[in-house]
Amino acid sequence: MQRDTLIFDLINKELERQRHGIELIASENFTSLQVMEAMGSVMTNKYAEGYPGKRYYGGCEIVDQSEQLAIDRLKQIFNINYANVQPHSGAQANAAVLLAILQPGDPILGLDLSMGGHLTHGSPVNFSGKLYQPHFYGVKKEDGLIDYDMLETKAKEIKPKVIIVGASAYSRDWEYERIRKVADDVGALVMADIAHPAGLIAKGLLNSPFDHCHIVTSTTHKTLRGPRGGIIMMKSDFENPFGQKDPKGNVRMMSNLLDLAVFPGTQGGPLEHIIAAKAISFGEILSDEFTNYAKQVISNAQAMAAAFVEKNYQIISGGTDNHLMLIDLRNKNISGKKAEQVLVKADITANKNMVPFDDKSAFVTSGVRFGVPAITTRGMKEENMRFVVDSVDKVLSNADDEKIIMNVKNDINAFMKQFPLYPELR
Ligand SMILES: *Cc1c(COP(=O)(O)O)cnc(C)c1O
Repeated sequence: MQRDTLIFDLINKELERQRHGIELIASENFTSLQVMEAMGSVMTNKYAEGYPGKRYYGGCEIVDQSEQLAIDRLKQIFNINYANVQPHSGAQANAAVLLAILQPGDPILGLDLSMGGHLTHGSPVNFSGKLYQPHFYGVKKEDGLIDYDMLETKAKEIKPKVIIVGASAYSRDWEYERIRKVADDVGALVMADIAHPAGLIAKGLLNSPFDHCHIVTSTTHKTLRGPRGGIIMMKSDFENPFGQKDPKGNVRMMSNLLDLAVFPGTQGGPLEHIIAAKAISFGEILSDEFTNYAKQVISNAQAMAAAFVEKNYQIISGGTDNHLMLIDLRNKNISGKKAEQVLVKADITANKNMVPFDDKSAFVTSGVRFGVPAITTRGMKEENMRFVVDSVDKVLSNADDEKIIMNVKNDINAFMKQFPLYPELR
Protein backbone atom coordinates (compact mmCIF):
# COMPACT_ATOMS: atom_id res chain seq x y z
CA MET A 1 0.00 0.00 0.00
CA GLN A 2 1.23 3.48 -0.82
CA ARG A 3 2.14 5.63 2.17
CA ASP A 4 -0.59 8.20 2.83
CA THR A 5 1.59 11.29 2.77
CA LEU A 6 -1.44 13.55 2.81
CA ILE A 7 -2.38 12.42 6.31
CA PHE A 8 1.19 12.05 7.57
CA ASP A 9 1.94 15.61 6.48
CA LEU A 10 -1.02 16.73 8.55
CA ILE A 11 0.21 14.70 11.53
CA ASN A 12 3.59 16.41 11.27
CA LYS A 13 1.92 19.81 11.04
CA GLU A 14 -0.08 19.01 14.15
CA LEU A 15 3.13 18.03 15.97
CA GLU A 16 4.66 21.39 15.03
CA ARG A 17 1.52 23.23 16.18
CA GLN A 18 1.70 21.46 19.54
CA ARG A 19 5.41 22.25 19.87
CA HIS A 20 5.15 25.98 19.10
CA GLY A 21 2.19 26.99 21.19
CA ILE A 22 1.10 27.42 24.78
CA GLU A 23 -1.57 24.82 25.46
CA LEU A 24 -4.01 26.08 28.07
CA ILE A 25 -7.03 23.89 27.32
CA ALA A 26 -7.74 22.46 30.77
CA SER A 27 -8.82 19.06 29.44
CA GLU A 28 -5.70 18.47 27.33
CA ASN A 29 -2.31 17.01 28.12
CA PHE A 30 0.71 15.46 26.39
CA THR A 31 0.86 11.72 26.87
CA SER A 32 4.15 9.84 26.91
CA LEU A 33 5.83 8.34 23.86
CA GLN A 34 5.37 4.81 25.20
CA VAL A 35 1.64 5.44 25.62
CA MET A 36 1.46 6.59 21.98
CA GLU A 37 3.52 3.60 20.91
CA ALA A 38 0.98 1.23 22.47
CA MET A 39 -1.88 3.11 20.78
CA GLY A 40 -0.24 2.53 17.43
CA SER A 41 0.41 -1.16 18.09
CA VAL A 42 -0.89 -4.48 16.72
CA MET A 43 -3.33 -4.73 19.61
CA THR A 44 -5.67 -2.62 17.48
CA ASN A 45 -6.20 -5.72 15.32
CA LYS A 46 -7.70 -7.87 18.04
CA TYR A 47 -11.39 -8.49 18.73
CA ALA A 48 -11.97 -9.25 22.39
CA GLU A 49 -15.67 -8.79 23.23
CA GLY A 50 -16.16 -9.73 26.86
CA TYR A 51 -13.74 -9.46 29.78
CA PRO A 52 -10.39 -11.09 30.64
CA GLY A 53 -10.96 -14.85 30.92
CA LYS A 54 -14.55 -14.56 29.59
CA ARG A 55 -14.26 -13.58 25.93
CA TYR A 56 -16.42 -14.25 22.88
CA TYR A 57 -13.36 -14.63 20.60
CA GLY A 58 -10.35 -16.93 20.50
CA GLY A 59 -6.75 -15.76 20.73
CA CYS A 60 -7.33 -13.40 23.65
CA GLU A 61 -4.69 -14.89 25.98
CA ILE A 62 -2.33 -11.98 25.51
CA VAL A 63 -4.79 -9.08 25.49
CA ASP A 64 -6.30 -10.69 28.60
CA GLN A 65 -3.00 -10.16 30.41
CA SER A 66 -2.67 -6.59 29.22
CA GLU A 67 -6.27 -5.68 30.16
CA GLN A 68 -5.85 -7.38 33.55
CA LEU A 69 -2.69 -5.34 34.18
CA ALA A 70 -4.64 -2.16 33.38
CA ILE A 71 -7.37 -3.17 35.84
CA ASP A 72 -4.92 -4.15 38.59
CA ARG A 73 -2.86 -0.97 38.27
CA LEU A 74 -5.95 1.23 38.29
CA LYS A 75 -7.20 -0.51 41.45
CA GLN A 76 -3.80 0.10 43.03
CA ILE A 77 -3.77 3.81 42.12
CA PHE A 78 -7.06 4.54 43.88
CA ASN A 79 -7.02 1.66 46.40
CA ILE A 80 -10.34 0.30 45.12
CA ASN A 81 -11.94 -3.09 44.48
CA TYR A 82 -13.63 -2.65 41.09
CA ALA A 83 -12.43 -1.14 37.81
CA ASN A 84 -13.67 -1.36 34.22
CA VAL A 85 -11.12 -0.03 31.72
CA GLN A 86 -13.14 -0.58 28.53
CA PRO A 87 -15.17 2.65 28.08
CA HIS A 88 -14.01 4.33 24.87
CA SER A 89 -14.36 7.80 26.42
CA GLY A 90 -15.60 9.68 29.46
CA ALA A 91 -19.01 10.12 27.86
CA GLN A 92 -19.21 6.36 27.22
CA ALA A 93 -18.33 5.63 30.86
CA ASN A 94 -21.15 7.90 32.03
CA ALA A 95 -23.60 6.38 29.55
CA ALA A 96 -22.83 2.91 30.87
CA VAL A 97 -23.27 3.92 34.52
CA LEU A 98 -26.63 5.58 33.88
CA LEU A 99 -27.75 2.57 31.84
CA ALA A 100 -26.75 0.24 34.68
CA ILE A 101 -28.72 2.13 37.31
CA LEU A 102 -31.67 3.83 35.65
CA GLN A 103 -34.85 3.15 33.75
CA PRO A 104 -35.83 5.61 31.00
CA GLY A 105 -37.59 8.61 32.51
CA ASP A 106 -35.96 8.29 35.95
CA PRO A 107 -35.03 11.59 37.63
CA ILE A 108 -31.33 12.54 37.86
CA LEU A 109 -29.66 15.54 39.49
CA GLY A 110 -26.43 17.04 38.16
CA LEU A 111 -24.50 20.31 38.03
CA ASP A 112 -25.90 22.72 35.45
CA LEU A 113 -23.80 22.81 32.26
CA SER A 114 -23.66 26.61 32.33
CA MET A 115 -22.30 26.45 35.90
CA GLY A 116 -19.44 24.11 35.07
CA GLY A 117 -21.21 20.74 34.60
CA HIS A 118 -20.81 18.33 31.68
CA LEU A 119 -23.13 17.48 28.78
CA THR A 120 -23.49 13.90 30.05
CA HIS A 121 -24.87 15.11 33.39
CA GLY A 122 -28.36 15.72 32.00
CA SER A 123 -28.05 18.30 29.21
CA PRO A 124 -31.13 18.30 26.95
CA VAL A 125 -28.92 17.93 23.85
CA ASN A 126 -27.27 14.77 25.27
CA PHE A 127 -28.61 11.21 25.75
CA SER A 128 -28.57 11.85 29.51
CA GLY A 129 -31.14 14.61 29.19
CA LYS A 130 -33.20 12.85 26.53
CA LEU A 131 -33.49 9.38 28.11
CA TYR A 132 -33.77 10.46 31.73
CA GLN A 133 -35.50 13.30 33.54
CA PRO A 134 -32.76 15.86 34.24
CA HIS A 135 -32.67 18.33 37.13
CA PHE A 136 -29.82 20.63 38.09
CA TYR A 137 -28.10 22.29 40.99
CA GLY A 138 -25.75 25.22 40.57
CA VAL A 139 -23.19 27.48 42.19
CA LYS A 140 -23.87 30.48 44.41
CA LYS A 141 -23.87 33.91 42.78
CA GLU A 142 -21.92 35.55 45.59
CA ASP A 143 -18.89 33.24 45.73
CA GLY A 144 -19.12 30.83 42.78
CA LEU A 145 -19.03 27.80 45.08
CA ILE A 146 -21.32 24.77 44.73
CA ASP A 147 -24.67 25.55 46.33
CA TYR A 148 -24.96 22.49 48.57
CA ASP A 149 -28.16 23.82 50.15
CA MET A 150 -29.75 24.07 46.72
CA LEU A 151 -28.53 20.56 45.93
CA GLU A 152 -30.20 19.28 49.09
CA THR A 153 -33.47 21.13 48.51
CA LYS A 154 -33.69 19.89 44.92
CA ALA A 155 -32.83 16.33 45.93
CA LYS A 156 -35.63 16.30 48.51
CA GLU A 157 -38.06 17.75 46.00
CA ILE A 158 -37.39 15.51 43.00
CA LYS A 159 -36.04 12.33 44.65
CA PRO A 160 -33.40 11.58 42.00
CA LYS A 161 -32.13 8.04 41.61
CA VAL A 162 -28.65 9.37 40.92
CA ILE A 163 -26.91 12.54 42.05
CA ILE A 164 -24.06 13.35 39.68
CA VAL A 165 -21.06 15.11 41.17
CA GLY A 166 -18.20 16.55 39.17
CA ALA A 167 -17.54 19.26 36.62
CA SER A 168 -15.57 20.42 33.61
CA ALA A 169 -15.09 24.01 34.69
CA TYR A 170 -15.06 24.19 38.50
CA SER A 171 -11.82 25.20 40.20
CA ARG A 172 -12.66 24.14 43.76
CA ASP A 173 -12.73 20.85 45.64
CA TRP A 174 -15.95 18.93 46.39
CA GLU A 175 -17.64 18.04 49.68
CA TYR A 176 -18.40 14.43 48.78
CA GLU A 177 -19.37 13.46 52.34
CA ARG A 178 -22.05 16.12 52.50
CA ILE A 179 -23.52 15.02 49.16
CA ARG A 180 -23.59 11.39 50.31
CA LYS A 181 -25.65 12.36 53.37
CA VAL A 182 -28.21 14.03 51.10
CA ALA A 183 -28.24 11.00 48.81
CA ASP A 184 -28.81 8.60 51.72
CA ASP A 185 -31.71 10.77 52.92
CA VAL A 186 -33.50 10.56 49.57
CA GLY A 187 -32.46 7.03 48.53
CA ALA A 188 -30.20 8.11 45.66
CA LEU A 189 -26.87 6.76 44.49
CA VAL A 190 -23.95 9.15 44.02
CA MET A 191 -21.89 9.05 40.84
CA ALA A 192 -18.72 11.15 40.90
CA ASP A 193 -17.33 12.08 37.49
CA ILE A 194 -13.68 13.00 38.16
CA ALA A 195 -12.74 13.33 34.47
CA HIS A 196 -10.86 16.56 35.17
CA PRO A 197 -9.11 16.27 38.55
CA ALA A 198 -8.50 12.47 38.60
CA GLY A 199 -4.71 12.78 38.40
CA LEU A 200 -4.67 15.08 41.42
CA ILE A 201 -7.04 12.79 43.37
CA ALA A 202 -4.80 9.83 42.45
CA LYS A 203 -1.98 11.45 44.40
CA GLY A 204 -4.11 12.46 47.40
CA LEU A 205 -3.91 16.18 46.59
CA LEU A 206 -7.70 16.65 46.56
CA ASN A 207 -10.56 15.03 48.53
CA SER A 208 -11.16 11.44 47.50
CA PRO A 209 -14.66 10.62 46.26
CA PHE A 210 -14.22 6.87 46.75
CA ASP A 211 -15.34 6.62 50.39
CA HIS A 212 -18.52 8.56 49.77
CA CYS A 213 -19.59 8.04 46.17
CA HIS A 214 -21.00 4.70 45.06
CA ILE A 215 -19.57 4.85 41.55
CA VAL A 216 -16.75 6.96 40.12
CA THR A 217 -16.06 7.61 36.43
CA SER A 218 -13.20 9.39 34.71
CA THR A 219 -11.50 10.07 31.45
CA THR A 220 -7.91 8.86 31.15
CA HIS A 221 -6.51 11.66 28.99
CA LYS A 222 -6.90 14.81 31.10
CA THR A 223 -4.88 15.10 34.35
CA LEU A 224 -4.33 11.31 34.27
CA ARG A 225 -2.20 11.98 31.14
CA GLY A 226 -2.97 8.67 29.45
CA PRO A 227 -4.53 7.77 26.09
CA ARG A 228 -7.96 9.17 25.17
CA GLY A 229 -10.49 6.98 26.99
CA GLY A 230 -12.78 6.33 29.96
CA ILE A 231 -12.91 4.22 33.14
CA ILE A 232 -15.50 3.17 35.74
CA MET A 233 -14.53 2.46 39.35
CA MET A 234 -15.97 1.54 42.76
CA LYS A 235 -14.28 1.40 46.15
CA SER A 236 -16.50 -1.58 46.96
CA ASP A 237 -19.26 -3.52 45.28
CA PHE A 238 -22.87 -3.40 46.49
CA GLU A 239 -26.30 -4.78 45.61
CA ASN A 240 -28.24 -2.72 43.13
CA PRO A 241 -30.80 -0.93 45.31
CA PHE A 242 -33.23 -0.40 42.45
CA GLY A 243 -34.11 -4.06 42.32
CA GLN A 244 -33.21 -5.27 38.83
CA LYS A 245 -32.95 -9.02 39.33
CA ASP A 246 -30.97 -11.57 37.36
CA PRO A 247 -32.79 -14.42 35.54
CA LYS A 248 -32.66 -16.57 38.71
CA GLY A 249 -34.35 -13.87 40.75
CA ASN A 250 -31.23 -12.75 42.64
CA VAL A 251 -30.46 -9.09 43.16
CA ARG A 252 -27.60 -8.15 40.89
CA MET A 253 -24.35 -6.77 42.17
CA MET A 254 -23.43 -3.35 40.79
CA SER A 255 -20.13 -4.65 39.41
CA ASN A 256 -22.03 -7.14 37.27
CA LEU A 257 -24.49 -4.46 36.08
CA LEU A 258 -21.69 -2.04 35.23
CA ASP A 259 -19.75 -4.65 33.24
CA LEU A 260 -22.91 -5.57 31.34
CA ALA A 261 -23.75 -1.90 30.74
CA VAL A 262 -20.36 -1.32 29.08
CA PHE A 263 -20.46 -4.55 27.07
CA PRO A 264 -22.90 -5.48 25.59
CA GLY A 265 -24.95 -2.53 26.88
CA THR A 266 -23.30 0.39 25.11
CA GLN A 267 -20.17 -0.92 23.36
CA GLY A 268 -18.95 -3.80 21.24
CA GLY A 269 -15.32 -4.85 21.08
CA PRO A 270 -12.94 -3.11 23.49
CA LEU A 271 -10.05 -1.04 22.12
CA GLU A 272 -7.24 -3.31 23.33
CA HIS A 273 -4.51 -1.04 21.95
CA ILE A 274 -5.94 1.82 24.01
CA ILE A 275 -6.32 -0.45 27.03
CA ALA A 276 -2.63 -1.42 26.72
CA ALA A 277 -1.82 2.29 26.59
CA LYS A 278 -4.04 2.87 29.64
CA ALA A 279 -2.05 0.17 31.49
CA ILE A 280 1.20 1.96 30.63
CA SER A 281 -0.11 5.34 31.78
CA PHE A 282 -1.42 3.79 35.02
CA GLY A 283 2.09 2.44 35.62
CA GLU A 284 3.44 5.95 35.09
CA ILE A 285 0.88 7.38 37.54
CA LEU A 286 2.12 4.96 40.23
CA SER A 287 5.62 6.49 40.01
CA ASP A 288 7.07 9.24 42.22
CA GLU A 289 7.67 11.27 39.07
CA PHE A 290 3.91 11.60 38.63
CA THR A 291 3.53 12.67 42.28
CA ASN A 292 5.88 15.56 41.53
CA TYR A 293 3.96 16.31 38.33
CA ALA A 294 0.61 16.46 40.14
CA LYS A 295 2.02 18.76 42.85
CA GLN A 296 3.56 21.00 40.19
CA VAL A 297 0.18 21.21 38.41
CA ILE A 298 -1.44 22.67 41.52
CA SER A 299 1.48 25.06 42.21
CA ASN A 300 1.40 26.27 38.61
CA ALA A 301 -2.38 26.76 38.65
CA GLN A 302 -2.14 28.79 41.85
CA ALA A 303 0.74 30.90 40.50
CA MET A 304 -1.24 31.50 37.30
CA ALA A 305 -4.39 32.45 39.21
CA ALA A 306 -2.42 34.90 41.39
CA ALA A 307 -0.88 36.52 38.30
CA PHE A 308 -4.32 36.91 36.68
CA VAL A 309 -5.80 38.39 39.86
CA GLU A 310 -2.93 40.88 39.99
CA LYS A 311 -3.98 42.06 36.53
CA ASN A 312 -7.57 42.48 37.67
CA TYR A 313 -9.00 39.37 36.00
CA GLN A 314 -12.11 38.00 37.71
CA ILE A 315 -11.60 34.32 38.54
CA ILE A 316 -14.84 32.56 39.46
CA SER A 317 -14.60 31.68 43.18
CA GLY A 318 -11.49 33.87 43.42
CA GLY A 319 -8.89 31.19 42.82
CA THR A 320 -8.24 27.49 42.34
CA ASP A 321 -7.67 24.28 44.30
CA ASN A 322 -6.99 22.19 41.21
CA HIS A 323 -5.52 22.49 37.72
CA LEU A 324 -7.86 25.03 36.14
CA MET A 325 -9.62 28.36 36.50
CA LEU A 326 -12.63 29.98 34.91
CA ILE A 327 -12.34 33.69 34.18
CA ASP A 328 -15.23 36.11 33.73
CA LEU A 329 -14.04 38.56 31.05
CA ARG A 330 -16.90 41.04 31.34
CA ASN A 331 -14.76 43.67 33.10
CA LYS A 332 -12.24 43.34 30.22
CA ASN A 333 -14.83 44.09 27.55
CA ILE A 334 -14.14 41.03 25.45
CA SER A 335 -16.34 37.95 24.92
CA GLY A 336 -15.15 34.38 25.43
CA LYS A 337 -15.56 33.74 21.72
CA LYS A 338 -13.40 36.68 20.70
CA ALA A 339 -10.82 35.85 23.38
CA GLU A 340 -10.50 32.28 22.08
CA GLN A 341 -10.13 33.54 18.51
CA VAL A 342 -7.43 36.12 19.21
CA LEU A 343 -5.46 33.89 21.57
CA VAL A 344 -5.16 31.27 18.82
CA LYS A 345 -3.57 33.91 16.57
CA ALA A 346 -0.78 34.19 19.15
CA ASP A 347 -0.45 30.39 19.41
CA ILE A 348 -2.20 30.24 22.77
CA THR A 349 -4.95 27.62 22.81
CA ALA A 350 -7.79 27.90 25.30
CA ASN A 351 -11.55 27.57 25.15
CA LYS A 352 -14.41 29.98 25.64
CA ASN A 353 -16.68 28.91 28.47
CA MET A 354 -19.95 30.08 29.96
CA VAL A 355 -19.58 31.60 33.41
CA PRO A 356 -22.24 31.12 36.10
CA PHE A 357 -25.25 33.37 35.45
CA ASP A 358 -23.87 34.24 32.01
CA ASP A 359 -25.88 36.71 29.94
CA LYS A 360 -24.33 35.54 26.67
CA SER A 361 -25.09 32.36 24.72
CA ALA A 362 -23.03 29.16 24.90
CA PHE A 363 -21.67 30.06 21.46
CA VAL A 364 -20.41 33.51 22.52
CA THR A 365 -19.96 33.26 26.33
CA SER A 366 -18.51 35.75 28.81
CA GLY A 367 -15.69 33.55 29.97
CA VAL A 368 -12.60 31.62 29.15
CA ARG A 369 -11.19 28.50 30.85
CA PHE A 370 -7.48 28.06 31.44
CA GLY A 371 -5.73 24.94 32.69
CA VAL A 372 -2.10 24.01 33.34
CA PRO A 373 -1.84 20.19 32.94
CA ALA A 374 -0.33 20.41 29.44
CA ILE A 375 2.16 23.24 30.09
CA THR A 376 3.21 21.49 33.30
CA THR A 377 3.99 18.37 31.29
CA ARG A 378 6.06 20.59 29.00
CA GLY A 379 8.19 21.40 32.06
CA MET A 380 6.93 24.82 33.09
CA LYS A 381 7.27 25.89 36.71
CA GLU A 382 5.67 28.61 38.86
CA GLU A 383 8.16 31.23 37.63
CA ASN A 384 7.03 30.67 34.01
CA MET A 385 3.40 31.49 34.77
CA ARG A 386 4.05 35.22 34.68
CA PHE A 387 5.20 35.03 31.05
CA VAL A 388 2.11 33.01 30.16
CA VAL A 389 -0.26 35.41 31.91
CA ASP A 390 1.52 38.48 30.48
CA SER A 391 1.16 37.00 26.99
CA VAL A 392 -2.54 36.27 27.46
CA ASP A 393 -3.10 39.75 28.87
CA LYS A 394 -1.24 41.47 26.02
CA VAL A 395 -3.38 39.65 23.46
CA LEU A 396 -6.69 40.26 25.21
CA SER A 397 -5.88 43.93 25.86
CA ASN A 398 -4.91 44.46 22.20
CA ALA A 399 -7.40 42.15 20.55
CA ASP A 400 -7.63 44.23 17.37
CA ASP A 401 -3.95 45.03 16.97
CA GLU A 402 -2.51 42.42 14.63
CA LYS A 403 1.01 43.74 15.04
CA ILE A 404 1.10 43.36 18.80
CA ILE A 405 -0.48 39.90 18.51
CA MET A 406 2.19 38.82 15.99
CA ASN A 407 4.91 40.06 18.35
CA VAL A 408 3.42 38.03 21.19
CA LYS A 409 3.24 34.99 18.93
CA ASN A 410 6.91 35.31 17.98
CA ASP A 411 7.91 35.67 21.63
CA ILE A 412 5.86 32.58 22.50
CA ASN A 413 7.39 30.49 19.73
CA ALA A 414 10.87 31.41 20.95
CA PHE A 415 9.92 30.84 24.59
CA MET A 416 8.53 27.36 23.91
CA LYS A 417 11.88 26.18 22.53
CA GLN A 418 13.00 25.81 26.17
CA PHE A 419 10.39 23.10 26.64
CA PRO A 420 11.01 20.42 24.02
CA LEU A 421 8.02 18.26 23.10
CA TYR A 422 8.68 14.73 21.82
CA PRO A 423 12.29 15.49 20.79
CA GLU A 424 12.52 11.81 19.74
CA LEU A 425 10.06 12.51 16.92
CA ARG A 426 11.56 14.30 13.97
C1 LIG B 1 -14.21 15.61 29.57
C2 LIG B 1 -15.35 15.19 30.42
C3 LIG B 1 -16.15 14.09 30.09
C4 LIG B 1 -16.15 13.42 28.74
O1 LIG B 1 -15.04 12.90 28.27
P1 LIG B 1 -14.92 12.48 26.72
O2 LIG B 1 -13.78 11.53 26.76
O3 LIG B 1 -14.69 13.72 25.97
O4 LIG B 1 -16.19 11.80 26.34
C5 LIG B 1 -17.11 13.68 30.99
N1 LIG B 1 -17.30 14.33 32.15
C6 LIG B 1 -16.58 15.41 32.48
C7 LIG B 1 -16.84 16.09 33.78
C8 LIG B 1 -15.59 15.89 31.62
O5 LIG B 1 -14.91 16.98 31.93
